[in-house]
Amino acid sequence: MSDQLINAFYLGAATLFILALGGLSSNENAKRGNLYGMLGMVLAIIATVFSDAVTSYWVIVLCMIPGAIFGFIVARKVKMTQMPQLVAILHSLVGLAAVSVGYATYFDPALHFAGVEKTIHDIEVYLGIFIGAMTFSGSVIAFGKLSAMINSKPVLLPARHLINLVMFIVVVVYGFVFVGVESLDEAYAPLIIMTVIALVFGVHMVIAIGGADMPVVISMLNSYSGWAAAATGFMLSNDLLIVTGALVGSSGAILSYIMCRAMNRHFLSVIAGGFGTSSKPSGSAEEAGEVIATSVEEVAQKLSEAKKVMIVPGYGMAMAQAQRAVAEVTRILMGKGVNVHFGIHPVAGRMPGHMNVLLAEAKVPYDVVFEMDEVNDDFPNVDVTLVIGANDTVNPAALEDPGSPISGMPVLEVWRSKMVVVLKRSMATGYAGVENPLFYKENTRMLFGDAKTNMDELVKALG
Ligand code: NDP
Repeated sequence: MSDQLINAFYLGAATLFILALGGLSSNENAKRGNLYGMLGMVLAIIATVFSDAVTSYWVIVLCMIPGAIFGFIVARKVKMTQMPQLVAILHSLVGLAAVSVGYATYFDPALHFAGVEKTIHDIEVYLGIFIGAMTFSGSVIAFGKLSAMINSKPVLLPARHLINLVMFIVVVVYGFVFVGVESLDEAYAPLIIMTVIALVFGVHMVIAIGGADMPVVISMLNSYSGWAAAATGFMLSNDLLIVTGALVGSSGAILSYIMCRAMNRHFLSVIAGGFGTSSKPSGSAEEAGEVIATSVEEVAQKLSEAKKVMIVPGYGMAMAQAQRAVAEVTRILMGKGVNVHFGIHPVAGRMPGHMNVLLAEAKVPYDVVFEMDEVNDDFPNVDVTLVIGANDTVNPAALEDPGSPISGMPVLEVWRSKMVVVLKRSMATGYAGVENPLFYKENTRMLFGDAKTNMDELVKALG
């Protein structure tokens, strides 16, 4: 394939990737956005495989076939609730690829650089391996935490900021040593020391981050994986990889910023870790009132009498796979002339957009699904709010208790509606491990049990 044709393919792929990101910004266009992304990736793979840089096809075929089979099986098997950990482990592969490419290009006897070019290439390799190794180990730990293989509580080493600072200084010093080496043999030591430190750095950074901050960590690792890919692009002089990596890197960084704002946390305080280690007992919730349980029949009656109903889903809806029953209840209520809206918290569930994806899958109309900021002022006009498997994202302690670990985090103010029905199985806390005073409020009723079972019963009672 000629260079011009490859560049044309690359340009087409880069444009499609930008269109994909644009498409993903709204529910209506998300499917189209995904298609653009897939098409862009097909163009990118064709142009790369048929470029002159590829001299032997059998290695590529040998890698692509198992990769494609593995990807196909994983994509078919993985449940929606397991997506965050899948994303985390895929990020780790991008990091590992950056490390491998870094070592391979540096020690490739066919590649010779001299003068300024050598310095630039050395810096690319050093940075690429550093970002890649940190992304790899950090993502593996994030995978462990999200899949509950590792405790989600933050692990804080004494003097952890000092440890980070020392590691950073050692990496910078060895960076100078590496750029100054005369022979390949001398490069092994600084490169390997830096790689080990980067791996430790990734682990140390993510173990210090607690449960409720994990969404930011996921989007931050997403951003890192983009920069690792961009660094790989520089090492391989591949323009498309640089552009694509930069797109992923910057969109991940913007998403991290948006998530931080949604949780009212500064990015630096998230990275510094330690959230969720407050020793303050959050037991004040019990003193605030008593828990009032309700039944499906009572909820069905209240819903039938309501003019306006708000549905607030959370992680429990995903766990119970209750979205289709929720969609059915919505359809029945709308059929009875009830005004039904959904209120979605930006970090509800376990990954950005988790609830929107489930509701779209269950065919809930997009025009009744609203963001938290769009519905928070409506609650006083709402007759019944159904909280389906949400906990942290509807916790009034975030606004009312300055000592709470989630203090300052914006939440859906469901308790301001006339009646709140919370569907969950027990009085257990949510992901952040914080007690929820909502359950003890006078206008709150608890509908205990599996959310799908109860929603199915509600469909029958309403129908
Ligand atoms: P939470 O994790 O706060 O609460 C979920 C609730 O669902 C639990 O209290 C649980 O109570 C209930 N539940 C679980 N299974 C079922 C079931 N089968 N039927 C009924 N209820 C069930 O969820 P939220 O969505 O409110 O908050 C999300 C939390 O996750 C936040 O802390 C957020 O920061 C964090 N997070 C978000 C990510 C993201 O990107 N969105 C990523 C990682 C973490 P019970 O056991 O009593 O049933």
